[in-house]
Amino acid sequence: MLIHPLSKKPLKWVFFDLDNTLWDFDANAREALNELYVRHQLELHTGYRQEQFIQLYQDVNLAYWKRYEQGEVTKDVLRTARFTDTFAQMGLPPALYPPNVWDEYLDICPRMTVLIPGARECLGFFYEHVKIGILTNGFEETQRIKLAESGLDSYVTYMQSSEAFGTAKPTKAFFDAALDFAGIDASECLYIGDNAQTDVEGGMNAGIYTYRYAYHDTPTPSDLQAHTLFGGEVRSLTQWCQSF
Ligand SMILES: [Mg+2]
Repeated sequence: MLIHPLSKKPLKWVFFDLDNTLWDFDANAREALNELYVRHQLELHTGYRQEQFIQLYQDVNLAYWKRYEQGEVTKDVLRTARFTDTFAQMGLPPALYPPNVWDEYLDICPRMTVLIPGARECLGFFYEHVKIGILTNGFEETQRIKLAESGLDSYVTYMQSSEAFGTAKPTKAFFDAALDFAGIDASECLYIGDNAQTDVEGGMNAGIYTYRYAYHDTPTPSDLQAHTLFGGEVRSLTQWCQSF
């Protein structure tokens, strides 16, 4: 049995965020774009090198996300225009735009299997001692594909997606529902995620001892670090699980 390092009670569950905590979203998105680049012969048709295409797509995508968050465009426009705008800027003739490439991307991306270093090892360790849950903001089917294709699903007892649940992290109800499912008190589990607001603030607000995975060594805001329920900043999943 593992003892909870912070509450000193028996540790029963460990909850993980998925994207950029276990499954390397950024790396997998690049892999998916690389795949599209090759499949649709974008070099031949535009002269853009792979890296240039990815950089341009990322810039266009980011700009559309900002507009989406400000209510200027719909999700559907975001989904399609980030590709059509990229192609237009690359000088690809519209007749050569791959049809439904946005669906193709969303189909390919979750099947990519780049994991955060130590992710499998970390789940393997906890699997021997506690139950493992995934708490993720995202589409139910997409997130299930990621778990299955990367082979992480065999360690996981429970996955809760924002789409299936109806609300997303950081709402307290989202975390409360996971505790209800597990049938435990917040002091009998841990949570780890990379996002300062949705994961760390959200987890601690629900009374859960929460760690932050510092994706690409991004710093954790000091006000969160000062919180009594903050477990610590994790730079290596391998070292983290070895500390239990
Ligand atoms: Mg994340």
